[in-house]
Amino acid sequence: MSETAPTTSFEALGLSDEIVDALNERGITSPFPVQALTIPDALAGRDVCGKAQTGSGKTLAFGLPVLQRMAKAAPSRPTGLVLVPTRELANQVTEELDPAARAVGRSALAIYGGAPMEKQIERLEQGVDLVVATPGRMIDLIDRGAVSVADVAHVVVDEADRMADMGFLPQVEWILRNIDASHQTLLFSATLDGVVNTLIKRYQTDPSMHEVEGKEVTVEEMTHRFIAVHKMDKSKVAATIAKSTGRTIMFTRTKAMADRLADDLRDFGVKAAPIHGDLRQTSREKSLKDFSDGKLEALVATDVAARGIHVDDVDVVIQYDPPGDHKTYLHRAGRTARAGESGLVVTLSMWDEELEVKRLQKRIDVIQPLTEMFSNDERLNDLAAWDPFA
Ligand code: ADP
Ligand code: MG
Repeated sequence: MSETAPTTSFEALGLSDEIVDALNERGITSPFPVQALTIPDALAGRDVCGKAQTGSGKTLAFGLPVLQRMAKAAPSRPTGLVLVPTRELANQVTEELDPAARAVGRSALAIYGGAPMEKQIERLEQGVDLVVATPGRMIDLIDRGAVSVADVAHVVVDEADRMADMGFLPQVEWILRNIDASHQTLLFSATLDGVVNTLIKRYQTDPSMHEVEGKEVTVEEMTHRFIAVHKMDKSKVAATIAKSTGRTIMFTRTKAMADRLADDLRDFGVKAAPIHGDLRQTSREKSLKDFSDGKLEALVATDVAARGIHVDDVDVVIQYDPPGDHKTYLHRAGRTARAGESGLVVTLSMWDEELEVKRLQKRIDVIQPLTEMFSNDERLNDLAAWDPFA
């Protein structure tokens, strides 16, 4: 049961001038649907449950009303808490909310494992209003008495479905149970299945439920290309494509392949870095940041690592290893068509992957010839303009 959001403005939703100005400064001038639907209820102090797909603007939907309403915190006693499943998200959410937080004189801090605990404790002692944390590190800090949730009046469970997927619900519930002062609970998720519903029933009181229909990334909005390549030349083909355009994300099936491809790309003069679970947290963060800042031209990711990280303005998605199924194809491809933009999706296939790729084409209803190309092929320099049927 999804709703259509009214056309409205951030002011009309009840947000303060300070916040509206801070948004405008970033070029954020009108609310996305999930924001238009949930912000008024959250500002009214209600528990809110919001379902909307990735990239739909959920962070501001929960963050802005919390920032506007939250009290200033005493040392090591935050008044707001956002729980997120991964370290990357902790940073992304913090960065996304930081300008609005400053505008209303509140502070936000990302707290996660793998980073020095001492620094986090020091910052908390200086007084942090909004803590954006992964559940594990948060529990650690509570256990040590380094942070108290006694004053938390606003708690958010972000990406509840992924929390469940990653096995974090027991930790999330532990934290929620330990917040005993009267508080508002907001829950956001891309899907609402059985486990997430349990969370809603247990920890939300008369929540206002809002569901925005997934503006599913449709295949029509993207440009698809299928290239038949040869093993020895494959990474060079990928490099040629990456060099001819802006920011590129490449997907590989394994971590080892992500490492190898990133090495190859660098050898061919493409500034590239891998992103996968075996890499140090700091190096993953640096790569993401460098990519966002334009210092890296290509990211090479495994599907698992790519889940949930948000990277804007990706021009090309290269399916370096064909995706296991059509859902994975769309999930990978969606990186380039986020927030209404469209992009190019290139699938490379070797001779022994041809059948698999043909099957995939049928599932996504994009039937095209697999055109053989070598890395010196002129057509690789502008695949979007090239007509595979010509
Ligand atoms: P989600 O959590 O639903 O996956 P995010 O909160 O990460 O989505 O938002 C996705 C992107 O959209 C971010 O880059 C964010 O800055 C941008 N964004 C959010 N709301 C708006 C808006 N109202 N107008 C323009 N851009 C927005
Ligand atoms: Mg999000």
